[in-house]
Amino acid sequence: MSVNGWIEVSDMYCKGCELCVHACPQEVIDLNMDRLTTKGFHPAYIVKEGCTGCAICALVCPDSAITVYREVVKGRPA
Ligand code: SF4
Ligand code: SF4
Repeated sequence: MSVNGWIEVSDMYCKGCELCVHACPQEVIDLNMDRLTTKGFHPAYIVKEGCTGCAICALVCPDSAITVYREVVKGRPA
């Protein structure tokens, strides 16, 4: 059994503070320098595979901008 994770970042709440970028143990979050939110911030986004769904990013985000999804992948029965 393994766990795959994914995050969604709300443009409405993210202020590009980078706390989640530095908190992610898998180093899969960065700020998107190609985009600005309507409030004028570069939003966080997931840049590569490897998210485990640990939710540390969501816990450190001061604006509750991150939603974490987890998918449990079951192996074949022996
Ligand atoms: S911690 Fe929250 S507000 Fe800061 S960059 Fe990450 S998602 Fe955006
Ligand atoms: S849930 Fe964990 S692994 Fe996934 S992006 Fe957030 S801090 Fe990184």
